[in-house]
Amino acid sequence: MIRLFQPIGNLKSVSKKRANLYQKIGITMPYDLLWRLPRAYQDYREPVAVADVISGTQATVKVKIIGKKNPVSTRNHMQIFKLDAIDENDTELGIVIFNQRFTFQGLEIGKSYIMSGKITDNDYEERKNIQNPKILSNENVPLEAIYSQTAGLTSAMFRTNIKECLQLLDEVQFETIPEKLRNYYQLVSLAKAFHDVHQPETMEQVMHAKHRLAFEEELRLELGLHLLKLKSNQKTEYAMHEVDLQPFYDSLPFSLTEAQEKAIQEMIQDMSGETSMNRLLQGDVGSGKTAVATAICYFCAKNDYQSVLMAPTEILAEQHFQTLSNFLEPLGISVILLTGSLTAKQKKLRYADIEDGSAQVIVGTHAVFQKAVNYQKLGLVITDEQHRFGVAQREALAQKGGIPHKLVMSATPIPRTLGLVIYGDLEISVLDTMPKGRLPIKTYAVTGKLRQRAMNFVIQELNQGRQAYIVCPAITEKEDSESELKAVTAYAETCQNSYLKDWNIAVLHGQMTAQEKDDTMQKFRKHEIDVLICTTVVEVGVDVPNATVMVIEDAERFGLSQLHQLRGRVGRCSYQSYCILVTEHATPEGRERLRLLSSTTDGFEIAEADLHLRKAGDFFGNKQHGLPPLLLAELIDNQMLQEVQEVKRILIAEDSQLQKHQALYLDIIRMFSENSMN
Ligand code: ADP
Ligand code: MG
Repeated sequence: MIRLFQPIGNLKSVSKKRANLYQKIGITMPYDLLWRLPRAYQDYREPVAVADVISGTQATVKVKIIGKKNPVSTRNHMQIFKLDAIDENDTELGIVIFNQRFTFQGLEIGKSYIMSGKITDNDYEERKNIQNPKILSNENVPLEAIYSQTAGLTSAMFRTNIKECLQLLDEVQFETIPEKLRNYYQLVSLAKAFHDVHQPETMEQVMHAKHRLAFEEELRLELGLHLLKLKSNQKTEYAMHEVDLQPFYDSLPFSLTEAQEKAIQEMIQDMSGETSMNRLLQGDVGSGKTAVATAICYFCAKNDYQSVLMAPTEILAEQHFQTLSNFLEPLGISVILLTGSLTAKQKKLRYADIEDGSAQVIVGTHAVFQKAVNYQKLGLVITDEQHRFGVAQREALAQKGGIPHKLVMSATPIPRTLGLVIYGDLEISVLDTMPKGRLPIKTYAVTGKLRQRAMNFVIQELNQGRQAYIVCPAITEKEDSESELKAVTAYAETCQNSYLKDWNIAVLHGQMTAQEKDDTMQKFRKHEIDVLICTTVVEVGVDVPNATVMVIEDAERFGLSQLHQLRGRVGRCSYQSYCILVTEHATPEGRERLRLLSSTTDGFEIAEADLHLRKAGDFFGNKQHGLPPLLLAELIDNQMLQEVQEVKRILIAEDSQLQKHQALYLDIIRMFSENSMN
């Protein structure tokens, strides 16, 4: 079994060089390679009529050879072989073979063959030609798996190496789900699933195999979370005592909402108990989660414990740092900022403050859990927008000191059905009311034709002293940073030369350094910039109350929940705010989704609808939640979720730590470890 988890280079068919290529795409062991699922299948058994083939495309045809021409040699010693053939409809097809004499010789007049290749028109003849076809017999040819080529690895290489993995799999007999359960839930064995997904004979086999593999992914995800919880649900060394919070409340420029107060009380109760807190604070953007976090940092500090607030980006860390130090420093609590972009000297100073306990609240990015950081007495770890963090990252931090209390803040309202799956027995506090005086954001979905009007509207707001965001259009399907950068700068230039020539605009995108992003955000906050043209970098948590309009270009490419997050950047003050969704290519279904967004600002409702419209798979398929990505997420439906729950319960009922299920355990560890950073 272990051999499946050993270095990929141990495979006979994998050279050192190729092993390095595999490393590059995260495939380190044979088991990883088995999970490299085919992108598609070529079905050689279903030839099409020659007449139906569009010239210039690949096709598989079945033709009878009716004639052979004499070979022709070109000046550069290339040999060209030509054959005449007809298909079952008597449509003629020319076969052109370069150099491959044996292929030519092997094709017999009067016999039929299935062949596939590029079919082209011929300038000199009426008939089409097929060039250098791959010749298949007309026996029962299996489907051929096609893999996405990447980093110099071709589909054929994957096929060869996976073949060896499959042999290995048969030798070691790797299985994660006991046979009894497999039979009950109609799951094929893991070995069969891998065989059938990589070397299927029928598409039906592929479907069964994928079902099993999707089940596997979801099961190990849930069991992995279960194991994490086991680790975290332990007796705390940091039981806290009561603290008078009045000085904190008095210092706030507003009074807390009922929901905020309730959440704070729940957390204090958790932290005063026997076991460590493990709580999720869910609240829509702008619902005041940071205020709640600040309150419990205060509570912790008064208990002589340090707390950490970890944000996914430097911008957010900076912003939290400002908020927390504004509230807490006047009350005599020291707050420090720790991010990757500090100089070595600055870091050293801060490490010292953290180590001797003079830093009470530490706000930062993942820099807060680097090895060099030693806490004096870490009692509380808060992670903001947890969906941006890998599960393993959070775990790393949690292991910094004993078992601190943990709070996760999320603005992604997770529909209850999924919440159960993902968080299981994690306690949840919900901020379901907004601070007073907020007007709901008005949202409009428009087509590109109305862009000019949308821009006029933006300008109208700017004239009244407000600011705006424009979320830039996508230029390619791939969201690689290179093209993203081009899109943003080109778009900004266009705006500066036309609609927005009288205004100060700036761009914000993922290619900028943390320092540049920060400077830009500071300028925007100080209103030195009127319009910020950005990518989804602004999605999470950025707080500039004077910004009241957001235009989102190509809105159809985002999920509802993501749009909701984006639009949460406006509507943060008492002015009326607006969100304009521009779409050029929305399908009717896409328009329906956007319409829903115009009709409600309730994040939970949106999340439910998102789930409903896009299926659970889309949720698990996107990386936002910080869970390991699932390859077959689109196959997960409610029934599978339920069955996985049942299997999980049965397995852990008798073997809570999965000690007796080694294969499953290995599988889980692998899944969670490959995502330790994202
Ligand atoms: P979230 O993190 O949930 O998106 P924030 O904590 O950033 O929300 O709060 C958004 C804004 O609302 C901040 O400017 C904050 O100071 C303010 N705020 C928070 N709680 C209240 C309240 N109870 N009443 C009025 N304003 C509040
Ligand atoms: Mg926030």
